[in-house]
Amino acid sequence: MPVCTTSPTGGVFRARTRVATAHTSNQTDPMTETESIAYDVVVLGAGPVGENVADRARAAGLSTAVVESELVGGECSYWACMPSKALLRPVIARADARRVPGLSQAVQGPLDVPAVLAHRDYYTSQWKDDGQVDWLNGIGAVLYRGHGRLAGPRAVSVEGADGEQHRLTARHAVAVCTGTRAQLPDLPGLAQIKPWTSREATSAHAAPGRLIVVGGGVVATEMATAWQAFGSQVTVLVRGKGLLPRMEPFAGELVAEALKEAGAEVRTGTSVASVTREGSTVVVLTNTGDRIEADEILFATGRVPHTDDIGLDTIGLEPGSWLDVDDSLRVVGSEWLYAVGDVNHRALLTHQGKYQARIAGAAIAARAAGVPLLETDRWGAHAATADHAAVPQVVFTDPEAAAVGLSLAEAEQAGHRVRAVDVDMSSVAGAGLYAHGYRGKARMVVDSDREIILGLTLVGPGVGELIHSASVAVAGEVPVNRLWHAVPSYPTVSEVWLRLLEAYRDA
Ligand SMILES: Cc1cc2nc3c(=O)[nH]c(=O)nc-3n(C[C@H](O)[C@H](O)[C@H](O)COP(=O)(O)OP(=O)(O)OC[C@H]3O[C@@H](n4cnc5c(N)ncnc54)[C@H](O)[C@@H]3O)c2cc1C
Repeated sequence: MPVCTTSPTGGVFRARTRVATAHTSNQTDPMTETESIAYDVVVLGAGPVGENVADRARAAGLSTAVVESELVGGECSYWACMPSKALLRPVIARADARRVPGLSQAVQGPLDVPAVLAHRDYYTSQWKDDGQVDWLNGIGAVLYRGHGRLAGPRAVSVEGADGEQHRLTARHAVAVCTGTRAQLPDLPGLAQIKPWTSREATSAHAAPGRLIVVGGGVVATEMATAWQAFGSQVTVLVRGKGLLPRMEPFAGELVAEALKEAGAEVRTGTSVASVTREGSTVVVLTNTGDRIEADEILFATGRVPHTDDIGLDTIGLEPGSWLDVDDSLRVVGSEWLYAVGDVNHRALLTHQGKYQARIAGAAIAARAAGVPLLETDRWGAHAATADHAAVPQVVFTDPEAAAVGLSLAEAEQAGHRVRAVDVDMSSVAGAGLYAHGYRGKARMVVDSDREIILGLTLVGPGVGELIHSASVAVAGEVPVNRLWHAVPSYPTVSEVWLRLLEAYRDA
């Protein structure tokens, strides 16, 4: 049966029939070597980001070793983006269809949960990485399976699952792309009750009868949306005032409203004081003195970097810390160490990590060739400027929430003189056609001095596919008066752009 997995370039590809062995390459066979083997570049971690760094380095002709302790493809392919979106796609498609008169009657029934889970399993290649290993072999990178650690400047040691040790040396760069894992709160006995983290929430094979979701961010809202739709009775416990606190406040409000309509309970200002298991039942006592029972509990309470056991101490860095980088993704103060993707804490998103990987790969190659770095060369290649001002994100809830750039609060905090305009998306003709009774909201935050857009947030059905238009406007710093000439097609949801421009003109 073919396997299907994400390629580092973002598509979906089918594995070729050849199944690669871990060390197959067109270079030296490291299994037979005991002394240190030199490569131009050593990449630690083969998630989407490590894969892309390796791809760029190989494309520049640099010999490249990649060290991976679990599955090539990383968190994104097996326990994050791919499985979560495979789970959510039918949920959102059904919700969209239910808003189309003439179609809604046909989709009133429940989801076929076993089929949804089987589709998710297909998208994770049954948690096998043959396809991605094959791809890595195809680009001529050498894969070492095992736990990698820095062992002093430019040196990496690899401890294979079989106990075999390898020593690698990097002539030009070591790229740490080890990503993150779920952060659990410091609650007594938490490990014993075996809570769900994002890994279990994206890989479970049955819907628990009752599920408590702790947290109000992206993972919490997406997984609450999915499992409520699969038949679990979901209770979301949010410490703060609302959901999605990093977005404009209306995003969290609209998503909370929809979750409640779907039958979930959302309790704000609520945290877990203690959690135990009585038999198979999870019992939570909250800070407000309530007792809540469930079959499973998901903690979606943040991420910590995979840097506690990668030998940072051997080069004078703090184990367990996020790695601070400059815009070429080189660790501050180092000539040879790069930290790319989640591990540098700039933007914990696959697309942004892959963007960084392209830039890091180009910067490593340029430095290896002795070519000066340019901020903007022909491919815009050597500085990850979008990390600061134009990070897009889509939250795949119902309704979807999508944003790029700064929220109003962030823009004000950063000291910009701004004007923000809001539009009720039900005023857009195309939105009404897209979904009867369309509910959604848009906000555009404009720099009053430069008259360019600093941030845009859209909440409503189908907006995820719209956000790239805003990314172009924000990253391109397109003047607002020029945007009048970017004419949205009638009747599409994109006409929200016209309403936003009118609101800005008339404000
Ligand atoms: C539930 C969930 C859903 C998400 N959905 C989306 C989404 O829809 N869109 C999006 O853009 N982002 C999403 N994200 C975020 C996305 O998963 C991450 O931004 C992305 O995986 C980061 O890629 P990375 O390569 O930096 O790290 P990872 O994907 O974490 O890969 C790191 C790799 O390094 C390996 N590794 C770690 N330590 C070592 C070591 N010492 N030696 C060898 N190997 C090591 C790990 O095994 C892993 O394979 C989601 C996250 C979660 C939790």
